[in-house]
Parts: sequence; C-alpha cells; structure tokens
Amino acid sequence: VTRDGTTIPVGANVGDPADADAAARFGADLSGLIRTEFLFLGRDSAPTVDEQEAAYRAVADRLGSRPVVFRTFDIGGDKPLCSLQLVPEANPFLGLRGIRLALARPSLLRDQLAAICRLAVDRPVSVMFPMVTHVAEVVAARAQLSEAAALVGTAVPAGLQVGIMIEVPAAALKASAFIPHVDFVSIGTNDLTQYTLAADRGNENVAGAADPLDPAVLRLVHHVCAAAAGQVPVSVCGEVAADDAALPILLGLGIDELSVPPYAVPLVKQAIRALQLGTCRALAQEALALPSATAVRALVAGRLDPAADSTDSSM
Ligand code: PEP
Ligand code: MG
Repeated sequence: VTRDGTTIPVGANVGDPADADAAARFGADLSGLIRTEFLFLGRDSAPTVDEQEAAYRAVADRLGSRPVVFRTFDIGGDKPLCSLQLVPEANPFLGLRGIRLALARPSLLRDQLAAICRLAVDRPVSVMFPMVTHVAEVVAARAQLSEAAALVGTAVPAGLQVGIMIEVPAAALKASAFIPHVDFVSIGTNDLTQYTLAADRGNENVAGAADPLDPAVLRLVHHVCAAAAGQVPVSVCGEVAADDAALPILLGLGIDELSVPPYAVPLVKQAIRALQLGTCRALAQEALALPSATAVRALVAGRLDPAADSTDSSM
C-alpha cells in the first residue's frame, strides 16, 4: 500500500515448485507469472494433461488461496527445447517462440490449456500467453482455450481470466487493439527491453545498452497503461519490477500490480509503502522526456534521496 492508500498487489514469479514455497514464505499476494517451461525441460516428449494438471496443482497448493497466473509454455529464444522445435532457426529470438510455437503445435497448447481448465474449476487461476504480436494470435489462442475446455468436458471456467504478455514493441504500440480481447495484460520488460533496444538479453557485451529504464521502454509502458486505463489491469512481471529506481516510475506510469522474484517480495512491498502516487506520477512524466536510462536513474536518485525530499523522513 502506498502512502496515499493505493493498494499495489505484489506477486512472485515462480519457475518451479520450490519457488512456489518461497513465494508463500516471503508473503507474496499472488503469483503473477508461473513459468510453466519447467515441466517441459529435460524430457523428450511433452507432458500429458494428467501430468500437467498434477504439476500445476502442486504449485497452486503451495500458494494456498493466492491467485496464480499460468503462462503457457514460452519455448524458443532464450528457452530452447530441441525436442519441440520444428526446425533450427538462424535467429530464434525473432523466430517461432512463445505463442507462435504454441499455435504451430496446437495439440500441445490444447493439452496445457486443458490442464489449466481442470485447475480453474476450483481455484483462482488465470492464464496468459507470451510473446504476442498480433491480435489474431490472441483470437486463435482463445479458440484453443474453448476447445481445451470442451476436451475436459466443461465450458471455460467462469473465473478463468485470460491475459497476454506484452513483450514485443508492436504489441505495446497496438495495446488498444488487444484490450477488448483480454481480461488483463502483463508487461514482460525483459523481452520488451531487448526487442526495443535491439540488445540480446543474454549478451553481456550489450548489457549496458539494455536498461529497461530507457525512456523508449518507458514510453511503451506508458502507452500500454494509457490504453488499458479504466478497462483492464496492467502488471509488470519483468526483472525491472524489483528495481528500487524503477518502482516509482512504474507506479507513476499507471502500473497496477507487480510480480518479482520471491526473495524480492518483502523488499518491494517495503519500498511501495514509502511512495506517494502523486509524486510518482510527476516523476514518471519527467522521466518520459529524458534522453537516456542514465538520466532517468539520476532523476530518481535525486528525487527519492531522503535529504532531497523531507516528506520521506516522516515514514
Ligand atoms: C519477460 O520477458 O520480461 C518475462 C517476464 O518473461 P521471461 O523472462 O520468462 O521471458
Ligand atoms: Mg519474456
């Protein structure tokens, strides 16, 4: 909760059952991102619907009654899985990854969605699709969801919220076109940063050129928040959500919810308690006009330094 009384739920990103334990231990309000790839790694064939349901239930059980957001398998790019890829690609980050691979292998996607539907019958479960670029992909994925529900003998469970990750600049720029098709959006700043700044997220040589606080990335986040305002909630689940310097800017741009590595949950909650939303909004507007991530970081450091803002000492 911010100093002026706005609640910002803080979730944990979960990559395997141990993360789910940590999420509960660190007091996460939810899991805003369950990376389901853990189930697909280290095996030659895809897991069955029953196997997936059991694994997802095990993760959800560890999180008790907290809402959980399952991301459908995000394979390709930095998460290769040779047994599932159709053909080797010269540039996998721009290739068949995320929802593109899922739609190219509909039976895999349908099985995963069927397992998620089974869970959603009795749990607060949402699903989101990674690496979305085109509205048609969301329409096709939702059609797969309906088929998957039919496969397990139900309608799509009423409580099952459907969202997308915004990780591709095109999707951010077209955000308003996606809003009618989704219940929420979650910005994946790890990929959004690499695609916006043309800097491979895993390449140390360009790490300095890939700061998610670059005003170009912030403008995309701003654009998404403006398009979604008053219609669907917007969260951030990339690593930047756990960055102290980023927090006031993200909240100031209109982000409603965050999801961070489990250990960071208490730190982020503590940082939010020190923030005033009005101050964050003004700071974010200034940041959008700056020329570089370095300038944005300098602005935040100067403004949030307790010596520079006497109201901070009243905490
Ligand atoms: C992201 O891209 O910001 C994200 C959260 O997804 P991942 O890191 O799993 O690609
Ligand atoms: Mg990503």
